[in-house]
Amino acid sequence: MNNNLKVVADYHTHTIYSDGKGTIEQNVKSAIDKGLEIIGISDHGYKHMGFGVKYNLFEKMRYEIDLMKEKYPQIKILLGVECNILDDRGNIDIDDKILGYFDYVMAGYHFGSMPTRWTRGMRNHFNNYFKPLKSLEKAYNTRALVNAMRNNDIFVLTHPGDKGDVDIIEVAKAAQETKTYMEINSHHKNLSIEQLRLIKNIDVEYILGSDSHLPNHVGDFTNALERAISAGVDIDKIVNVRRV
Ligand SMILES: [Zn+2]
Ligand SMILES: [Zn+2]
Repeated sequence: MNNNLKVVADYHTHTIYSDGKGTIEQNVKSAIDKGLEIIGISDHGYKHMGFGVKYNLFEKMRYEIDLMKEKYPQIKILLGVECNILDDRGNIDIDDKILGYFDYVMAGYHFGSMPTRWTRGMRNHFNNYFKPLKSLEKAYNTRALVNAMRNNDIFVLTHPGDKGDVDIIEVAKAAQETKTYMEINSHHKNLSIEQLRLIKNIDVEYILGSDSHLPNHVGDFTNALERAISAGVDIDKIVNVRRV
Protein backbone atom coordinates (compact mmCIF):
# COMPACT_ATOMS: atom_id res chain seq x y z
CA MET A 1 0.00 0.00 0.00
CA ASN A 2 1.27 3.42 -0.91
CA ASN A 3 1.52 5.54 2.22
CA ASN A 4 1.10 8.79 0.34
CA LEU A 5 -2.41 7.90 -0.78
CA LYS A 6 -5.60 7.90 1.23
CA VAL A 7 -8.94 6.50 0.14
CA VAL A 8 -11.61 8.79 1.54
CA ALA A 9 -14.91 7.20 0.47
CA ASP A 10 -16.38 3.73 0.18
CA TYR A 11 -19.53 3.70 -1.96
CA HIS A 12 -19.75 -0.09 -2.27
CA THR A 13 -20.72 -1.91 0.93
CA HIS A 14 -23.33 -4.58 1.65
CA THR A 15 -25.40 -5.25 4.76
CA ILE A 16 -27.87 -7.82 6.06
CA TYR A 17 -30.49 -6.25 3.78
CA SER A 18 -28.86 -8.35 1.04
CA ASP A 19 -25.93 -10.77 1.45
CA GLY A 20 -23.75 -8.75 3.83
CA LYS A 21 -23.15 -9.90 7.40
CA GLY A 22 -23.39 -6.59 9.26
CA THR A 23 -25.99 -3.92 9.90
CA ILE A 24 -25.99 -0.45 8.37
CA GLU A 25 -24.80 0.93 11.70
CA GLN A 26 -21.90 -1.57 11.89
CA ASN A 27 -20.73 -0.51 8.43
CA VAL A 28 -20.99 3.16 9.42
CA LYS A 29 -19.01 2.61 12.63
CA SER A 30 -16.33 0.69 10.77
CA ALA A 31 -16.06 3.48 8.21
CA ILE A 32 -15.59 6.02 11.02
CA ASP A 33 -12.89 3.81 12.60
CA LYS A 34 -11.09 3.62 9.25
CA GLY A 35 -11.14 7.39 8.92
CA LEU A 36 -13.39 7.54 5.86
CA GLU A 37 -15.20 10.77 5.05
CA ILE A 38 -18.05 9.15 3.10
CA ILE A 39 -19.75 5.76 3.52
CA GLY A 40 -22.30 4.43 1.06
CA ILE A 41 -24.59 1.49 1.71
CA SER A 42 -25.26 -0.26 -1.59
CA ASP A 43 -27.12 -3.54 -1.27
CA HIS A 44 -28.19 -5.69 -4.22
CA GLY A 45 -31.11 -4.64 -6.40
CA TYR A 46 -34.39 -6.47 -5.80
CA LYS A 47 -34.23 -8.56 -8.97
CA HIS A 48 -31.31 -10.57 -7.70
CA MET A 49 -32.94 -13.96 -7.20
CA GLY A 50 -30.61 -15.03 -4.39
CA PHE A 51 -30.18 -12.02 -2.17
CA GLY A 52 -31.71 -8.88 -3.62
CA VAL A 53 -33.19 -6.44 -1.09
CA LYS A 54 -36.92 -7.08 -0.74
CA TYR A 55 -38.68 -4.40 -2.76
CA ASN A 56 -40.66 -2.98 0.15
CA LEU A 57 -37.61 -2.68 2.42
CA PHE A 58 -35.88 0.16 0.55
CA GLU A 59 -38.13 2.61 2.37
CA LYS A 60 -36.99 1.17 5.73
CA MET A 61 -33.35 1.42 4.62
CA ARG A 62 -33.87 5.09 3.80
CA TYR A 63 -35.38 5.67 7.24
CA GLU A 64 -32.47 3.90 8.93
CA ILE A 65 -29.91 5.88 6.93
CA ASP A 66 -31.56 9.14 7.95
CA LEU A 67 -31.40 8.08 11.62
CA MET A 68 -27.70 7.22 11.22
CA LYS A 69 -27.05 10.63 9.70
CA GLU A 70 -28.34 12.26 12.87
CA LYS A 71 -26.45 9.89 15.13
CA TYR A 72 -23.07 10.09 13.33
CA PRO A 73 -22.71 13.62 11.94
CA GLN A 74 -18.92 13.20 11.71
CA ILE A 75 -19.24 11.17 8.49
CA LYS A 76 -21.29 11.58 5.33
CA ILE A 77 -23.70 8.63 5.08
CA LEU A 78 -25.38 7.81 1.78
CA LEU A 79 -27.88 5.25 0.58
CA GLY A 80 -27.07 3.69 -2.76
CA VAL A 81 -28.03 0.47 -4.48
CA GLU A 82 -26.14 -2.02 -6.62
CA CYS A 83 -28.64 -2.69 -9.37
CA ASN A 84 -28.54 -5.75 -11.60
CA ILE A 85 -28.02 -5.32 -15.32
CA LEU A 86 -30.85 -7.51 -16.60
CA ASP A 87 -30.41 -7.77 -20.38
CA ASP A 88 -28.55 -6.45 -23.41
CA ARG A 89 -30.97 -3.55 -23.77
CA GLY A 90 -29.47 -2.30 -20.55
CA ASN A 91 -32.51 -2.62 -18.32
CA ILE A 92 -31.70 -2.50 -14.60
CA ASP A 93 -33.87 -3.19 -11.57
CA ILE A 94 -34.88 0.33 -10.64
CA ASP A 95 -38.14 2.21 -11.08
CA ASP A 96 -39.49 5.66 -10.33
CA LYS A 97 -41.13 4.52 -7.10
CA ILE A 98 -37.89 3.46 -5.39
CA LEU A 99 -35.47 5.75 -7.23
CA GLY A 100 -36.26 8.60 -4.85
CA TYR A 101 -34.89 6.67 -1.87
CA PHE A 102 -31.35 6.58 -3.21
CA ASP A 103 -28.53 9.09 -3.20
CA TYR A 104 -26.85 7.23 -6.06
CA VAL A 105 -27.32 4.18 -8.28
CA MET A 106 -24.61 1.69 -9.20
CA ALA A 107 -25.08 -1.26 -11.53
CA GLY A 108 -23.27 -4.45 -12.39
CA TYR A 109 -23.77 -7.87 -13.92
CA HIS A 110 -24.57 -10.75 -11.55
CA PHE A 111 -25.38 -14.42 -12.21
CA GLY A 112 -28.40 -14.30 -9.94
CA SER A 113 -30.23 -11.52 -11.77
CA MET A 114 -33.72 -12.24 -13.04
CA PRO A 115 -33.76 -12.06 -16.85
CA THR A 116 -36.30 -9.90 -18.64
CA ARG A 117 -36.40 -12.45 -21.48
CA TRP A 118 -36.24 -15.77 -19.74
CA THR A 119 -34.72 -18.02 -22.42
CA ARG A 120 -32.08 -15.63 -23.71
CA GLY A 121 -31.28 -14.36 -20.23
CA MET A 122 -30.78 -17.81 -18.75
CA ARG A 123 -28.65 -18.81 -21.75
CA ASN A 124 -26.52 -15.74 -21.06
CA HIS A 125 -26.06 -16.75 -17.40
CA PHE A 126 -25.37 -20.36 -18.38
CA ASN A 127 -22.78 -19.53 -21.02
CA ASN A 128 -21.08 -16.94 -18.81
CA TYR A 129 -20.83 -19.54 -16.07
CA PHE A 130 -19.10 -22.24 -18.12
CA LYS A 131 -15.63 -21.29 -19.25
CA PRO A 132 -15.67 -22.99 -22.70
CA LEU A 133 -18.85 -21.09 -23.61
CA LYS A 134 -17.89 -17.72 -22.14
CA SER A 135 -16.66 -16.14 -25.36
CA LEU A 136 -20.09 -16.68 -26.98
CA GLU A 137 -21.54 -14.00 -24.74
CA LYS A 138 -18.93 -11.28 -25.08
CA ALA A 139 -20.94 -9.14 -27.52
CA TYR A 140 -24.18 -9.56 -25.53
CA ASN A 141 -22.44 -8.67 -22.25
CA THR A 142 -20.81 -5.63 -23.83
CA ARG A 143 -24.16 -4.36 -25.15
CA ALA A 144 -25.70 -4.95 -21.74
CA LEU A 145 -23.16 -2.76 -19.92
CA VAL A 146 -23.02 -0.08 -22.61
CA ASN A 147 -26.81 0.23 -22.84
CA ALA A 148 -27.20 0.18 -19.06
CA MET A 149 -25.01 3.30 -18.89
CA ARG A 150 -26.74 4.99 -21.82
CA ASN A 151 -30.28 4.32 -20.63
CA ASN A 152 -29.89 4.97 -16.90
CA ASP A 153 -28.19 7.52 -14.71
CA ILE A 154 -25.54 5.26 -13.23
CA PHE A 155 -22.96 6.66 -10.83
CA VAL A 156 -20.62 3.65 -10.81
CA LEU A 157 -20.41 0.62 -13.09
CA THR A 158 -19.42 -2.11 -10.63
CA HIS A 159 -16.77 -4.75 -11.37
CA PRO A 160 -16.93 -4.39 -15.20
CA GLY A 161 -16.17 -7.70 -16.91
CA ASP A 162 -16.58 -9.77 -13.77
CA LYS A 163 -18.50 -13.04 -14.38
CA GLY A 164 -19.06 -12.20 -18.05
CA ASP A 165 -16.42 -11.23 -20.60
CA VAL A 166 -16.78 -7.83 -22.23
CA ASP A 167 -15.02 -5.70 -24.81
CA ILE A 168 -13.55 -3.45 -22.15
CA ILE A 169 -12.58 -0.74 -24.64
CA GLU A 170 -16.19 -0.36 -25.83
CA VAL A 171 -17.38 -0.34 -22.22
CA ALA A 172 -14.84 2.32 -21.26
CA LYS A 173 -15.80 4.51 -24.23
CA ALA A 174 -19.44 4.36 -23.13
CA ALA A 175 -18.40 5.19 -19.56
CA GLN A 176 -16.53 8.22 -20.85
CA GLU A 177 -19.49 9.31 -23.02
CA THR A 178 -22.01 8.93 -20.18
CA LYS A 179 -19.66 10.16 -17.42
CA THR A 180 -20.00 6.94 -15.46
CA TYR A 181 -17.25 5.98 -13.03
CA MET A 182 -15.71 2.57 -13.60
CA GLU A 183 -15.05 0.59 -10.47
CA ILE A 184 -11.81 -1.05 -9.47
CA ASN A 185 -13.29 -3.60 -7.09
CA SER A 186 -11.24 -4.90 -4.18
CA HIS A 187 -13.38 -8.00 -3.63
CA HIS A 188 -13.50 -9.14 -7.27
CA LYS A 189 -10.66 -9.26 -9.77
CA ASN A 190 -12.11 -6.64 -12.14
CA LEU A 191 -11.14 -4.19 -13.33
CA SER A 192 -7.99 -6.26 -13.77
CA ILE A 193 -4.49 -4.96 -14.40
CA GLU A 194 -4.82 -6.17 -17.99
CA GLN A 195 -8.15 -4.37 -18.51
CA LEU A 196 -6.81 -1.19 -16.92
CA ARG A 197 -3.86 -1.22 -19.30
CA LEU A 198 -6.14 -1.71 -22.31
CA ILE A 199 -8.21 1.37 -21.48
CA LYS A 200 -5.34 3.55 -20.32
CA ASN A 201 -5.78 6.04 -23.15
CA ILE A 202 -9.52 6.44 -22.72
CA ASP A 203 -10.40 9.40 -20.56
CA VAL A 204 -12.52 7.66 -17.91
CA GLU A 205 -12.52 8.17 -14.19
CA TYR A 206 -12.41 5.42 -11.60
CA ILE A 207 -13.70 4.65 -8.14
CA LEU A 208 -12.23 2.06 -5.81
CA GLY A 209 -14.85 -0.10 -4.12
CA SER A 210 -14.36 -2.47 -1.20
CA ASP A 211 -17.54 -4.41 -2.06
CA SER A 212 -17.40 -5.29 1.60
CA HIS A 213 -19.77 -7.96 2.88
CA LEU A 214 -18.38 -7.73 6.44
CA PRO A 215 -18.18 -4.54 8.52
CA ASN A 216 -14.44 -5.12 9.04
CA HIS A 217 -13.85 -4.99 5.29
CA VAL A 218 -15.42 -1.57 4.87
CA GLY A 219 -12.68 0.73 3.60
CA ASP A 220 -10.39 -2.16 2.62
CA PHE A 221 -9.07 -1.15 -0.78
CA THR A 222 -5.73 -2.96 -0.70
CA ASN A 223 -6.23 -5.19 -3.76
CA ALA A 224 -7.87 -2.50 -5.84
CA LEU A 225 -5.22 0.10 -5.13
CA GLU A 226 -2.39 -2.35 -5.84
CA ARG A 227 -3.93 -3.23 -9.21
CA ALA A 228 -4.40 0.43 -10.10
CA ILE A 229 -0.78 1.21 -9.25
CA SER A 230 0.56 -1.88 -11.07
CA ALA A 231 -1.40 -0.94 -14.18
CA GLY A 232 -0.03 2.59 -14.07
CA VAL A 233 -3.42 4.29 -13.65
CA ASP A 234 -3.13 8.04 -13.15
CA ILE A 235 -4.03 8.38 -9.46
CA ASP A 236 -5.72 11.73 -10.14
CA LYS A 237 -8.32 9.84 -12.18
CA ILE A 238 -9.44 7.83 -9.14
CA VAL A 239 -12.03 10.06 -7.57
CA ASN A 240 -12.05 8.63 -4.04
CA VAL A 241 -8.27 8.64 -3.60
CA ARG A 242 -6.43 11.62 -2.28
CA ARG A 243 -2.70 12.36 -2.13
CA VAL A 244 -1.63 13.13 1.46
ZN1 LIG B 1 -21.66 -6.93 -7.53
ZN1 LIG C 1 -21.41 -5.62 -4.44
